[in-house]
Formats: sequence, C-alpha cells, structure tokens
Amino acid sequence: MDRSTSYDLIVLGGGPAGYTAALYAARAGLSVLVIEQFSAGGQMTQTAMIENYPGFDEGVDGYSLGEKMQKGAERFGAKTLRAQILSVQLACDPKVIRTDEGEYLAKTVIVATGAGHRHLGLLHEEELVGKGVGYCAACDGMFYRGKRVAVVGGGNSAAADALLLSRICDTVYLIHRRDTLRAGKTEREALKKADNIVWKLNSTVEAFQFEEQLTGITIKNKDTGDTETLSLDGVFISIGREPQTKLFQDQLALSEEGYILAGEDTKTNLPGVFSAGDVREKPFRQIVTAVSDGAVAAYYAEQYLTEE
Ligand code: NAP
Repeated sequence: MDRSTSYDLIVLGGGPAGYTAALYAARAGLSVLVIEQFSAGGQMTQTAMIENYPGFDEGVDGYSLGEKMQKGAERFGAKTLRAQILSVQLACDPKVIRTDEGEYLAKTVIVATGAGHRHLGLLHEEELVGKGVGYCAACDGMFYRGKRVAVVGGGNSAAADALLLSRICDTVYLIHRRDTLRAGKTEREALKKADNIVWKLNSTVEAFQFEEQLTGITIKNKDTGDTETLSLDGVFISIGREPQTKLFQDQLALSEEGYILAGEDTKTNLPGVFSAGDVREKPFRQIVTAVSDGAVAAYYAEQYLTEE
C-alpha cells in the first residue's frame, strides 16, 4: 500500500462520532484519516448553545466543540481530508474510498456520516435556501429580528425553533400537517404561552412565493381544502432528519428509513466496517450517544486489525 493514501482506519464524517473514533484509534497507534466535506462537528455546528454535553458548565457552542474534537484527535496523529466522497467499495480488502481529492485505501472503515435535514421537496426549495428558506433557526434566526416567519413541522425541533423565533421575530406561524403536535407536553405548553405564535394545524405547504428572496408561502388546509397565502420574510423547515447513506445503500444493510443497521457494538453486515453516531439505527440520537458510538467503533476496529 502507498503509505500516503492508505490507512489502518478511514473515518467517513467529521462529527462527534467520527472525531471520537479518530481520537481513540489514533491514541491506540492506528494510522487514521477522517474525511469530511465541511467543517468539523457535523450537525453540531448549527447549534448555537449546547447545554447537555457534560464538562461545559456554562454550555458550549457547537462550532467550538467540533473544532476541539478535531484538534483532540489530531493531537494523536489523526489526519483530516476536506473532500467530497464520491463512491466507496467496502466489501473488499483493502476498502476503497474515492473522493474528489483522490482515492484512499483502508483496512477498516467507520461510517459516521450523520443525518441531514429533511427537505419538503417543493419546487424552488433548493434555490431559495439562504434566501428566506432555512433549516436551522438557531443558526439563522437572528437575521429575522422583528420580521414575520414560519416554522414547518410538529416535532420537538419545530417546537424549539418556533419558541426561539418567537423571542426574536414579530410573528411566527407554526405549520403542521396534523391536528396534534408530536412535540412533548412541556414544549406544547410553552408554545401555547407565546402570544406571537399563530397555529396553522392540519396544513401543508404547497408553494413558495418569491422574487429575489422569499416573500411568502401558500398553505392548504387538509380539512377544508382552502388555500391561504402568508406573506413572510422567512420559513424554517424543521421536519426531521435523513441519514446520509445514499453511498452505502448497495453495500450496507439499512433500515426502512435508511439508517445503517448495526448493534451497540457498531458492527455492520460487512467485516471491518463499523457505523457510529446519528447514521446508525438506534433509539436516542444525541452528542453523548454519538461520542460513545465513536469510542466503541474504534475499539472494535482495533480488535479487527489485531485479529487480522
Ligand atoms: P421528528 O420528531 O421526527 O418530527 C418531525 C416532524 O415533522 C413531525 O411532526 C412530522 O409530522 C413532520 N414531518 C415529517 N415529514 C414531513 C413532511 N414531508 N411534511 C410536513 N411535515 C413533516 O423530528 P425532530 O423534531 O427533528 O426530532 C428528532 C428527534 O430529536 C426526536 O427524537 C426529538 O424528540 C429529538 N429532539 C429533542 C429535543 C429536546 O430538546 N428534547 C429537541 C429537538 C429534537 P408527523 O408528526 O405528522 O409525523
């Protein structure tokens, strides 16, 4: 193997799971490459204040925590490649990862590619991202101070987004496709107390209105069939997440929703391939559960290499 492009372990994804795996594996003496398309931290970078990651008594912003995790792994020799992964061959030995920055080989692979925001899939949605359409109120909410916005979704994320925006914006429409929210009781009660949140239940978004920027949305009431156009400065779509597993669908066993099927030992259906963090099928997706997965995956990758 060419030592510049071949590694004991390649970690796909530089979020908390990926960099924890890299830290543990590099510290155990493995040669490790982390491949990440954007900045370290994954979805965490979009959270302004994280209050449930132990060790930070006043909270920490997601971007800083991501950077710290990267530095912590690199301190022990892990390397980072900024690149887009184009294709993978995981069933062979060595495993092959093709990126827009070249081809890399690995004896073991940990897939920690996370889960991205689900999109509504409406016409013009992609071109309006950053022009009034957003997926992260904690990141972009401040741009809408004193303005009129909408949040689409009925889960805990949508509730948190609507509450955050209600403190910044003039009016917040909460648009949900059913007549009851999926969000927990505490969140529902907090929403009811906010007097600038306007509920639009049993309603779906049908279309975006825009010139250069978003100017409004058309919603449809599912009971009556009536449509209504809300004039808005911004809309935050908060309808859950989708695992980043398109590249693996012919090689790794996936759940119906597309998450990688691997147990608490993070072992996938392929020898030498492990899965850690939000991309793995599991009941509770948190930063702490992602870092836990990362440590476990590194442990089993090391064990696999020893047995080999
Ligand atoms: P979620 O719980 O899966 O909720 C997604 C919401 O979006 C649901 O209300 C769903 O409607 C709606 N939805 C899905 N696809 C849609 C579509 N195509 N069009 C319109 N609406 C659509 O996702 P989440 O809110 O992101 O939460 C994910 C996990 O993180 C959950 O376990 C949640 O509890 C957790 N979380 C916890 C906190 C906290 O502080 N405790 C904060 C945020 C998230 P239906 O209800 O009709 O399916």
